[in-house]
Amino acid sequence: MTPRKNHAVSFSRSVDSMVDQALAVLKLDPGLAQAIKGCTAVLKVLFPVEIKGKIHVFTGWRALHSIHRLPAKGGIRYAPSVDQDDIEALAALMTYKCAIMDVPFGGSKGGLCIDPLKFERDDLERITRRFTRELVTRGFLSPAMNVSAPDLGTGQREMAWMADTYKHLNPEDINAIACVTGKPVHLGGVQGRLEATGRGLQYALREFFRYPEDVAATGMDGPMEGKRVVIQGLGNVGYHAAKFLSEEDGMKIIAVIERDGALINEKGLPVEALYQHLNQTGGVRNFPDARYVADGPSVLETACDILIPAALERVIHKDNAPRIRAKLVAEAANGPVTFEADRILKKRKIIVLPDTFLNAGGVVVSYFEWVRNLSHIRFGRMERRFEELRGHSIIRAIEEATSRKLPQKLCQQIVHGAGELDLVRSGLDDTMCQAFQKIKEVKERYQDKHTYRTASYIIAIEKIARAYLDAGIY
Ligand code: GLU
Repeated sequence: MTPRKNHAVSFSRSVDSMVDQALAVLKLDPGLAQAIKGCTAVLKVLFPVEIKGKIHVFTGWRALHSIHRLPAKGGIRYAPSVDQDDIEALAALMTYKCAIMDVPFGGSKGGLCIDPLKFERDDLERITRRFTRELVTRGFLSPAMNVSAPDLGTGQREMAWMADTYKHLNPEDINAIACVTGKPVHLGGVQGRLEATGRGLQYALREFFRYPEDVAATGMDGPMEGKRVVIQGLGNVGYHAAKFLSEEDGMKIIAVIERDGALINEKGLPVEALYQHLNQTGGVRNFPDARYVADGPSVLETACDILIPAALERVIHKDNAPRIRAKLVAEAANGPVTFEADRILKKRKIIVLPDTFLNAGGVVVSYFEWVRNLSHIRFGRMERRFEELRGHSIIRAIEEATSRKLPQKLCQQIVHGAGELDLVRSGLDDTMCQAFQKIKEVKERYQDKHTYRTASYIIAIEKIARAYLDAGIY
């Protein structure tokens, strides 16, 4: 993948510049704007862990961007290239994302400078538990104040270790497991969290395609079916997005870009088989029935309908933006397009659906998980059977009134009482649709002079500013 840190503008400067465009529209008090943009607090920790007789020293961060709502929310990433600027930028994106999606959280983000692939499971567990203690003892991880989640290089396993470490340090906190989301379901996670970011992207694109005028502005027309998609990164987000879009919406995944190169097949790649191959061999090379290209990043420039960068930040920058040939860039990763590239794409009339909306499915379902943890009950537990019985009564009433039997399939739909996964998906779908409608409305209010991104930031800044002012600044 594109080497990082090779572009002049820092990640947080890039995010700030994008936010500035919204601030210019809102004409906010410069002091308030400054308060909103900067990180409230940043913790840097350095700690040793002895691994196989050798002392390794690790550096990690947790940036607290905004506390206009609490807890502050955001994942923890494990990556060798992570630095404080990245974490601050990612924390800011969390604040804006939550505000846009109507998730009542502030923004935060954490990172540990580590290549997780270089450590064995047990060592990673000790490193994670040690890092968690650093965060908890300094007040940067708790159910009420700062709630973590998976990000690049972390997943359910790390969340389980973090929750367990917090619980040991706070045995009397009845809400202990709510200190992280994205946990395994049997340890307090919520159904549908693993697929949530990819699922949210699918719901967002479905909503986008319900508006022919928005679709036409990209140069596309018609439904999602048959649209040609290039996707970068087949991690948790990219895999689920590619799987759902191809298997459920009939889109064609014509190229997949991964660490060791890219695969192209104009007829569409079989996502599930490719994902298995990737997990078994560690790369995409040698996958049958596809053309392999060693220079992965060059495949970002393939002509396609939708380009989905679902890996790292800043992969579309000023040098390759002039050569991007997608009609729509759908930001599944956080910050995949730099500020400069964003301007180039805008000039070239390439539409971008921004990260703060498009990849927000993860944090939306994290919110559901947090609420589930605080209520100590699975969604749907009280209602499911009741709904089923009512469904049976409705069928009986219709059949008696009409003296006709309803088709079996319809009966099944009517008597289906919503379980947790149904409710989570429905809540996510609704949240993605509402957010898009709001963004579209704000974009149109400014006579389409602005992008979906600026419209999103306008929504976020307005909300955060209101929260600051109403709570009072003293
Ligand atoms: N790491 C994910 C993100 O960047 C999820 C955050 C969360 O669920 O708190 O949106």
